Amino acid sequence: MTLLGEEGVFAKPLAGSQSLGPMLNLRIAQPDRLVDITSISELNSVSDNRDFVDIGACVTHADVEDGRIVDASMGLLAFVARKIAYRAVRNRGTIGGSLAHSDPAADWVSALPLLGAKALVVSPKGERVLPVKSLMVSSFVTALERDEIIRAVRVPKASPSARWGFTKFNRKAGEFAHAIAGVFHDPETADFRVVIGAIETAPIVVEDASFLFGGRFDSDMHERLDDNAVLMLLKEKNVDDVYVQQLAITALRRAAKQAGMK
Ligand SMILES: Cc1cc2nc3c(=O)[nH]c(=O)nc-3n(C[C@H](O)[C@H](O)[C@H](O)COP(=O)(O)OP(=O)(O)OC[C@H]3O[C@@H](n4cnc5c(N)ncnc54)[C@H](O)[C@@H]3O)c2cc1C
Repeated sequence: MTLLGEEGVFAKPLAGSQSLGPMLNLRIAQPDRLVDITSISELNSVSDNRDFVDIGACVTHADVEDGRIVDASMGLLAFVARKIAYRAVRNRGTIGGSLAHSDPAADWVSALPLLGAKALVVSPKGERVLPVKSLMVSSFVTALERDEIIRAVRVPKASPSARWGFTKFNRKAGEFAHAIAGVFHDPETADFRVVIGAIETAPIVVEDASFLFGGRFDSDMHERLDDNAVLMLLKEKNVDDVYVQQLAITALRRAAKQAGMK
């Protein structure tokens, strides 16, 4: 923390280097100092609590894909991890690095708000907790202060009756998404959330999404999806391109179908 917070030094934490590495290569990022955080054991640990699981920021996508962490999400996290890039990227890329990088087309910036996850953020001043949906402010911009790092992500435990769907459109494996949509419903907690991502800014997170589906969650809800209501949400975020709008609506309809069929 001291190395990162030193006055007058532009320091960056280095995790899997899957995004920062290319940015350094291209001189898009020119920090004075890189601080490798991957050997900090706390950032690699996972703690299983009664109502939530804390996933250390340096846990890799491959760790999630391979089930090396406790699953709080009834399979959603592993499903998402499996579709991130290629295995070589997943072996090194980390959940915290992905959130801190805040590429709008990345997977965790959409999937974790869908689950109502929180980011545990530390600095020499102490720790604060903020919803992942508030961590990403806009494209590649976060609410992190200069001396703050993400310590872990807190994922609430979904009940066994929770249902989800997650759709991502990309032309081939390893490409970033052109559209992302997710639906999550847990009857035990009354969560009914929708996320629409890959929209060139922070994803749209709808906390009570029942109005998009005629007021209820069931196996036919994808047929009731209110396209106009989704369009309004997209326009509020300045998504005016008709092609992008239709991709988002189609992705959401497919995610709803997947969730309803489980
Ligand atoms: C070819 C390729 C394809 C990809 N495809 C996808 C894809 O389909 N979907 C997807 O979601 N991602 C994709 N990625 C991104 C990849 O999955 C990584 O998640 C991402 O690069 C960032 O994670 P990282 O650990 O490598 O972070 P790094 O590259 O090390 O760091 C990224 C940024 O986050 C900061 N940072 C890192 N850790 C922390 C922390 N704990 N706290 C605060 N700041 C931190 C760094 O300072 C830097 O600014 C792809 C990457 C590549 C190279």
